[in-house]
Amino acid sequence: MINFLECAAPGVRGLQPYQPGKPIDELERELGIRNALKLASNENPLGASPRAIEAGKGAMEGIWLYPDGNGYNLKKKISDKFGVGIDTITLGNGSSDILAFTVQTFVMPGDEVLFSEHAFAVYPILTLAASATPVVTKAKAWGHDLEAMAGAITDKTRVIFIANPNNPTGTWLPQSELEAFLAAVPERVMVVVDEAYFEYGQSLSNDYPDALQWIGRFPNLIVSRTFSKCYGLAGLRVGYGVSHPQVADLMNRVRPPFNVNNIALVAAEAALDDEAHLNKTLEVNAEGLKQLATGFDTLGLSYIPSIGNFISVDVGREAGPVYEALLREAVIVRPVAGYGMPRHLRITVGTTEQNEKVLAALKKVLDL
Ligand SMILES: *Cc1c(COP(=O)(O)O)cnc(C)c1O
Repeated sequence: MINFLECAAPGVRGLQPYQPGKPIDELERELGIRNALKLASNENPLGASPRAIEAGKGAMEGIWLYPDGNGYNLKKKISDKFGVGIDTITLGNGSSDILAFTVQTFVMPGDEVLFSEHAFAVYPILTLAASATPVVTKAKAWGHDLEAMAGAITDKTRVIFIANPNNPTGTWLPQSELEAFLAAVPERVMVVVDEAYFEYGQSLSNDYPDALQWIGRFPNLIVSRTFSKCYGLAGLRVGYGVSHPQVADLMNRVRPPFNVNNIALVAAEAALDDEAHLNKTLEVNAEGLKQLATGFDTLGLSYIPSIGNFISVDVGREAGPVYEALLREAVIVRPVAGYGMPRHLRITVGTTEQNEKVLAALKKVLDL
């Protein structure tokens, strides 16, 4: 038989698949238990908005029809809510789609894509899949070193990815720093500001910037957001990008037809309307972050201050075996050795009870 590895695009040959958080079902099957706790994928511990669930159920009747390929109603809602033109919006099957469309639109084999150490794992995957070259700058206090990033731009740089706040570190860039960076990047280089945790960031920091304010000013800026995190719709797969209309038009050319399904479209609309659910989510998260930080302090563990709905804690030793031991306690968290953080575990903020459970399990397995 022929070796298909040799037929694959050069970048794909060296690729490792994305490692998602372990599914609850899988752990329950393996341990023969029920009620495992998953705090591994930054999902909303309160679930989806009841209004989104209701809207999604209503859309079931219409699933024999193709969705509105243009997603007009959802785009209109996003446009009204955030004050951006409809022609600046690209809808995605999760915001992962927006990141992928950016690379497909602007990056050719041999080009460079720039991001930071400890950045989101999808950036190197997309880069290699395009047979492009990842350029990775050193982090500064776990966060993005924008000076280093600006210095790493070359003639071959096509795209820069910046997650604000960053996952898995939870670190963030303040308004003035990010603005100065955007002003310094040449216009031919696309900058993706990945705001998957935007609403959390806004609720937790006063100088956390809303990158949509710069859409009119920096034509090379693409802002990506998602319904997977604070809106609790991770399983439906829906997100969006906002950019200069010409960039949105180009991304729309590579977008697969009907990439966002009927149910996701209406559920996302309803989720945007349910401010009470969002506010409750942000409140539970702020309390939970404090609870986890206080718990880590009590256990003598250091952690990286976060404005997301997750926090990375230094377990003081190789984290892999600690992750495995937590699984045996029916608690799923996220090992981040693949992100260059072999002693950290990333823990999604849960409800008060869930946070208590993960702290107790950590105390037990670390024998503290
Ligand atoms: C979760 C996440 C995303 C996107 O997830 P989707 O479910 O595809 O919208 C994007 N960027 C970062 C940094 C994330 O953590």
